[in-house]
Amino acid sequence: MRYHARWVLPITQPPIENGTVVEADGVITFVGPRADAPAGRDYDLGEAILLPGLVNTHTHLELTAMRGFLEDCRFAEWIDKLRQSRNEVLDAEMLLDAARSGVLEGVEAGITTYADTCSTGVAMQAMRELGVRGVMYQEVFGPDPSRADTAMGELESVVDRLQLEQTELVSLGVSPHAPYTVSDALYEAAAHFANSRKLPLAMHVAESEPEYDIVVRGSGDFADRWQRRGIAVGRRARSPIALLEQHGVLERGALLIHCVRVDEEDIEIIARHHCAVAHCPASNAKFGHGIAPLLPLMEAGIRVGIGSDSVASNNRMDLLDEARLAVLIHRAATRRHDAFGAHQALELATIGGARALGLESRIGSLEIGKDADLAAFRIDIPRTTPIGDPYSAAIFALPGRSAELVTVRGRVLVDRGRVLAADESLAKRVRASGAALSSWAARQ
Ligand SMILES: [Zn+2]
Repeated sequence: MRYHARWVLPITQPPIENGTVVEADGVITFVGPRADAPAGRDYDLGEAILLPGLVNTHTHLELTAMRGFLEDCRFAEWIDKLRQSRNEVLDAEMLLDAARSGVLEGVEAGITTYADTCSTGVAMQAMRELGVRGVMYQEVFGPDPSRADTAMGELESVVDRLQLEQTELVSLGVSPHAPYTVSDALYEAAAHFANSRKLPLAMHVAESEPEYDIVVRGSGDFADRWQRRGIAVGRRARSPIALLEQHGVLERGALLIHCVRVDEEDIEIIARHHCAVAHCPASNAKFGHGIAPLLPLMEAGIRVGIGSDSVASNNRMDLLDEARLAVLIHRAATRRHDAFGAHQALELATIGGARALGLESRIGSLEIGKDADLAAFRIDIPRTTPIGDPYSAAIFALPGRSAELVTVRGRVLVDRGRVLAADESLAKRVRASGAALSSWAARQ
């Protein structure tokens, strides 16, 4: 198939005006000017920008029914309410439907790859059913060190089952959730397990003030919760990143989600262990957690991708919008017009995310031999007319628009603006889950 577009943005090469990407058997076989393209069937996108499929380095697809449900909460209370309502209201079918709905939302926004942390394992099935690419990191929780063995036993049996469900597109990892839900003993056990099974690791870290407080001072909102459960709390480490290092959790080049509260020493540790970072600017800002030091992280040579986080914290999954926000906040925070550009932001949303997940040999840019994961957006609309610089158009003007075309490994998921797997009955079921959550909240 020959995909023609006004602008082709390979990302690792300069933009091509009137360009063509040729796909055969799911693989890119040509990227260049339309005039030079080899013969084939034509798919003319017309006035459109054609990009590599976007890579979302942090999602919680199973929480899609919680959009708008947990607004303006104090962080620890947000976590409490999320966990309690998920356990009491959402059954396995509802969580699976939420994950399916999350994937469809992402596909509509041009996202072809998902790095999903999941407590129930449903995201893997949703990604497989809908034909997208991703890594699902099975979460493990447990602040009580005396229960670390039990938590690991449960993790192992889930991993044994899910490992059989891996495909060429969807793979499995492990996620010890966060310093305020995971004991030191559980961190060590999870790291050891991931090493022995050769599974990738991802985890939330250095996100919030109460997380910092429980790790560094043994006090604060999360420390209070541990104490109420009879779990000993004391100073655990110099910083959340140091905590992970000291328990061997950084050994496998883990994907570190957030990294808002990291200092120079932490950045040095992250770089030394070849870890990657999922930068989630909207979630961090909406919670009032702060702004991650994106530029120092990148200057240290750390692989960085962009993540939307769950719609329970962000309310939307739109990676171009997330990339736009990254440019705006880092320019605003540094008072520098040249701090971070549209091209760099688009890199983070594509090849940067691919590198963060170790998938850069397959995806993240339009190059011969890579898989045909594509996303195209129309530009013959008022918001992008005239277009000017195509990178700026993609980052500053396009966000919020639905994709015109999405393919994963050559398979078309969005065709002429239509999400082929769109399902009105699914949307109805997810709305019903949202209503069930609201009535649960009203009873509290
Ligand atoms: Zn998260």
